[in-house]
Amino acid sequence: MSDFKQTAFSAPAGRAPTILEIDTLVIGAGQAGVAMSEHLGKHGVPHLVLEKNRIAEAWRTGRWDSLVTNGPVWHDCFPSMDFPDLAPDAFAHKDQVADYFEAYAKMIDAPIRTGVEVKKVVRNTDRPGFTVETSEGVICATRVVAATGPFQRPVVPAIAPQDESLLQIHSAHYRNPQQLPDGAVLVVGAGSSGVQIADELNRAGRQVYLSVGAHDRPPRAYRGRDFVWWLGVLGLWDLESVQPGKEHVTIAVSGAHGGRTIDFRELAGQGITLVGLTNSFMNGVVTFKNDLAENLARGDENYLALLDAADAYIDRNGLDLPQEPQARQRLAEPVCVRNPLLELNLADAGITSIIWATGYAADFSWLHVDAFDANGKPQHQRGVSSEPGVYFVGLPWLSRRGSTFIWGVWHDARHIADHIAIQRKYTAYRDATQRGREAIETSPAKTSLTGVR
Ligand SMILES: Cc1cc2nc3c(=O)[nH]c(=O)nc-3n(C[C@H](O)[C@H](O)[C@H](O)COP(=O)(O)OP(=O)(O)OC[C@H]3O[C@@H](n4cnc5c(N)ncnc54)[C@H](O)[C@@H]3O)c2cc1C
Repeated sequence: MSDFKQTAFSAPAGRAPTILEIDTLVIGAGQAGVAMSEHLGKHGVPHLVLEKNRIAEAWRTGRWDSLVTNGPVWHDCFPSMDFPDLAPDAFAHKDQVADYFEAYAKMIDAPIRTGVEVKKVVRNTDRPGFTVETSEGVICATRVVAATGPFQRPVVPAIAPQDESLLQIHSAHYRNPQQLPDGAVLVVGAGSSGVQIADELNRAGRQVYLSVGAHDRPPRAYRGRDFVWWLGVLGLWDLESVQPGKEHVTIAVSGAHGGRTIDFRELAGQGITLVGLTNSFMNGVVTFKNDLAENLARGDENYLALLDAADAYIDRNGLDLPQEPQARQRLAEPVCVRNPLLELNLADAGITSIIWATGYAADFSWLHVDAFDANGKPQHQRGVSSEPGVYFVGLPWLSRRGSTFIWGVWHDARHIADHIAIQRKYTAYRDATQRGREAIETSPAKTSLTGVR
């Protein structure tokens, strides 16, 4: 990797910080920042990537210890490099993902400076570009690309009780069962994070209550193909916007234990108590909506719709893939679904911890530009923002459903780099008069006239 100490902009002791000028500054060196660097490099765009921690820090330290990818590595990778030492259908451990992106950055010789935080970006008023304040000095950049991640600020809903006798953490801060005090655990949220954490705690012998809201739960695999393949061939990764009514629907998938379909009834059979959406906390009592059966039924509908679409695809294309009728069998409704808990006294149930697997929000408080709507959401088309020279990459649904995923961000980054290269071409254009003037200025006659020779 390039050693950017040569172009260091931090101030030598006792001197004012140097101002570094750069065409394109990429902020964040997760997979999005690494992908940006690859595509900018291919276009010959001078750029620098600043990362406040380490490359792919979110994968390294920002997730629970046992996490593996939700997709097999043949799919969850960048096109130019396979995961070393893993079979294509394996699921990579989070550390292997972090190692992968470090190796990738090295392979493409990405100009990344780690340990430098961007504190503030403002548009210049007296000249083109942006002034960027960092923990190591000031940078002038013609363009900035925010690659600071889709999941920046853990969100805990306002209903969380003010109860110091409980340990309450967001899934972003969950690491392993030993981290929690003895006792039962309420996991709120049953997307990929909540469902995997609940399963891990249950396997570790904890009594677990899992609050299940609206969700999709694709089959891990069907008729010999992983669901990532089905979403690909059926065009579902390429959906360009959230389907109406699906705004708050999570996806429950997991690569844990070799990759298995999430089946809430099976989890209940293994001892997890399913409850509906968490509604309120009052005087040590939590209440749940009476929507568990409905949420499971909607999840089933989504599951069966994918099997139907897969069957139709196989028929249409004359594929020879094995029948799998058992995929349509449904387990019996467990007691916790037939007779749902609507309220629970936390102390009586022995609950000592609550894990909020309730998602994330963006935080662009450092980016002082005109690229946000009235609600503070980035305004952009496929990452090209409404403020010329400002770009976003890695955000949910940036261009399509696949945008936050490893393979998807690579394609979005290419589009943004193409846009930057095209803009640079416009900027470099000179009309005939300018070309003539520049030719005179650089001709030998001109230099001799000015007596330079
Ligand atoms: C639990 C979980 C599991 C996931 N599993 C998968 C999966 O299996 N497959 C898949 O494809 N996707 C998965 N994802 C989604 C996605 O791949 C990851 O969230 C991924 O980390 C996003 O990469 P990114 O580069 O966009 O953001 P991040 O990885 O969050 O990287 C952003 C970087 O920006 C840096 N940064 C932030 N602010 C500043 C600043 N001001 N100055 C300098 N640096 C800054 C951060 O330190 C960070 O390193 C998962 C997400 C989660 C939460």
